[in-house]
Amino acid sequence: MRKKVANVAVVERRINYLFQLAHQCITTKDVDKEMCRYHVKTLKKIAMKNVIRLHTNIKRKICKKCDLLLHAGITAKVRLTRSPNRAVTVQCIECKNVKKFPCNNQNYKIWIEKYENLQETMKS
Ligand SMILES: [Zn+2]
Repeated sequence: MRKKVANVAVVERRINYLFQLAHQCITTKDVDKEMCRYHVKTLKKIAMKNVIRLHTNIKRKICKKCDLLLHAGITAKVRLTRSPNRAVTVQCIECKNVKKFPCNNQNYKIWIEKYENLQETMKS
């Protein structure tokens, strides 16, 4: 018997809610990193189970190595590098994992912002 697939809008709402919870765990006075990790892990599991892509804004704020939410000044160091390529580097304070976002091309757009992909998602 096939499992019933949940409605995409409902799943996206749950993911958004869990992301907000994780963000709140980090930004409140008592920083609770373990609770934040728990929410992020749950969020990723839900997305994987329902075969939904996480939005780029969410994906870029999650540490791949330790599942901690990356927030500048609290759980991440954000630096701008100039040579050899201009990029924004985000380093997780807990596990020292580095994410690099190159910013050489001013016309660069993420996958979801491209017009042809927007049409593709509207059709389905
Ligand atoms: Zn990390």
